[in-house]
Amino acid sequence: MSFRLKMIMGIACVEAVFLLAILMSSLAVLTRSEHQALATRAGNDARLFGTAAADALISEDLSSLRRITRAVVHTRGVVYAAAWDGSDRLLAAAGRGYHRRNTTAVYAIRIDGVPYGKVAVWLSDHGFGAVLAAARARIVAIALGELLLVGLVSWLLGSYLMRQIARIEAGTARIARGEFGFLLPVSGGDELARMVAGFNAMSIKLQELQAEADRRYQETQALNEKLEGRVQERTLALATANRELEYLAMHDPLTSLPNRILLQDRLAQAIRAARRAPAPFALMVMDLDGFKDVNDTLGHAAGDLLLQETAMRVTKTLRQSDTAARLGGDEFALLLPTVAGPVDAEAVARKLLRAVEEPVSVGGQTVQVTASLGVALFPVHGDDVGDLLRRADRAMYEAKRGRLGLAIFKKDMEDEGDDRLRLQGDLQRAIANGELILYYQPKIDLASGKISGAEALVRWQHPTLGLLAPDRFIPLAERTRLIGPLTFYVVRAAARQARAWRDAGRPLAIAVNISAINLEDAQFADHVAQILQDVGVDPDMIECEVTETALMRDPDLARKTIEALSKIGVRVSIDDFGTGYSSMTYLRKLAVAAVKIDKSFVIDMGVSRNDTVIVRSVIDLGHNLGLKVIGEGVENAETMAALTSLGCDFAQGYHLTRPLDAEAFDAWRRTHS
Ligand code: C2E
Ligand code: MG
Ligand code: MG
Repeated sequence: MSFRLKMIMGIACVEAVFLLAILMSSLAVLTRSEHQALATRAGNDARLFGTAAADALISEDLSSLRRITRAVVHTRGVVYAAAWDGSDRLLAAAGRGYHRRNTTAVYAIRIDGVPYGKVAVWLSDHGFGAVLAAARARIVAIALGELLLVGLVSWLLGSYLMRQIARIEAGTARIARGEFGFLLPVSGGDELARMVAGFNAMSIKLQELQAEADRRYQETQALNEKLEGRVQERTLALATANRELEYLAMHDPLTSLPNRILLQDRLAQAIRAARRAPAPFALMVMDLDGFKDVNDTLGHAAGDLLLQETAMRVTKTLRQSDTAARLGGDEFALLLPTVAGPVDAEAVARKLLRAVEEPVSVGGQTVQVTASLGVALFPVHGDDVGDLLRRADRAMYEAKRGRLGLAIFKKDMEDEGDDRLRLQGDLQRAIANGELILYYQPKIDLASGKISGAEALVRWQHPTLGLLAPDRFIPLAERTRLIGPLTFYVVRAAARQARAWRDAGRPLAIAVNISAINLEDAQFADHVAQILQDVGVDPDMIECEVTETALMRDPDLARKTIEALSKIGVRVSIDDFGTGYSSMTYLRKLAVAAVKIDKSFVIDMGVSRNDTVIVRSVIDLGHNLGLKVIGEGVENAETMAALTSLGCDFAQGYHLTRPLDAEAFDAWRRTHS
């Protein structure tokens, strides 16, 4: 039902109810007044009748009485008349219209208070009903007229209202469709017109807002595009960085050759391909012979150059499909998928050795190194990565031991026991025979310039392999648990040296290096105390150096052993600090006296700002924890000056001297005290 119809019907209903009420009350009033008028007339008529009939009644003139009675009935409106004597005997009656409902009036005839009878008239209300009906018809006509008028007025009002509302309704629909900024016609100045005007203002406002939103949207779009560009740039940069990282993880930073991980991967691939083909191939392991000497005499920079040159020559000698990798130190591996048998392998190996053994110019000096090369062939010498690598290594070891230059793996090489077992046996013997000797490197106090102690660095005077650096046998000793006896051997030798220096009147504390496995030995401190007591030297003349990485293997056990050592009076310092990832909280808990900044940071201080920052923070960190700080790997005067200015406490390094045997150390000390 439309709003207009609802309104009209609503108003009509209200109007009808009111009209009905008015009608009813008017009719009631009219009826009441008609009744009264009728009663008054009846009363008058009865009185007149009584007066006219009194004489006839008293004289009992019945014929007169009847005549009078008949005359009364002819009066307007009287339908019945009757007269009774004093004893209520009906004497005369006339008329036919008697009806109980007719209006009656009785008149008593008395003379001096004595009743003589009574008369009564009955009046018909017939005329009265007609009056009422006429009145009712008029009222109904007026009511209908009014209803019609009200309906018309409401219809007109509704039309006006609806016109305005319909405009607003259409406008709302346009807004709902997203049209803004249009104006509806405004007519008049009433509330509805003001409402339409308000609607127009809203439409304009919405248009403005829409324009603003569009502008913002454009801006956001532009920003998004820009951001997308940036994200793309970043993603590209990340991808590049990832590729670089991946490259770094798989390559040796010094020579850019694949590292051991990548070699193992390529070897596994080669094995899979060769199994499918099937086709044999060769794996070689090559180790430079005099590399340590170059490093020690000409410095690490020269050593690095030599390694780079070697890598270049090897790569040049090989084919594109071959892989040359650096396994670590001066050890290389070569994977040759097209070398089928021992004859080919030997030819390539000789070519490689010739290339490597050509003199090299490093740092203005010409050096010549030899190399030892071992070959293992797939599948005759092994058909998995581990076997092939181990057997090529085994052959290389044989080549080195026999100074052969080149050896192809043979079964009997393994029969004699592998490299590890052999060296293990050798090392066991070396400890028993005293083949291990200690070299000493001084530490100096940067504030006073005075020598403050020495670090004992073990070497192995091997009967066939010559003087071996600790890197060659300490890892082996650690793997085979020979590290226990080895360390106690070193501690005893250092204690003896400390005592000798004390006895000679030149006391000097000696630091020994202990490994992770020693830290896991609950009796370690007791054993050290026993040795010191046996030798007769005070515990404060011996220090222990523990690498940060060793600490982190089992931090709890390490902490306990360090506590036990400091309890017996042996100071402990953290070696190679900066290479592990120990936390401040953990360091705080340790009973250590000093930290030694790893030489890799100290050596590069001159060239890398980053390393200077690291060195500075390690010094500050150490001092904050109440520890002394030692810089190791001091190779020149500039580094020493830099460390001094950063507040470092002690220095150690080639700039003072390389590690020396006891005799050479004494000589050095005489010239430097
Ligand atoms: P480390 O304890 O950090 O010893 C310092 C190493 O740096 C020594 O190498 C030393 O010769 C070398 N070095 C000293 N000053 C300089 C310098 O200015 N520049 C450079 N590039 N190097 C410098 P070394 O003697 O070859 O010892 C290597 C590592 O072997 C030692 O590192 C130590 O961790 C371990 N080691 C040495 N002797 C023992 C030992 O008796 N027992 C145990 N468990 N480990 C030992
Ligand atoms: Mg050390
Ligand atoms: Mg160190």
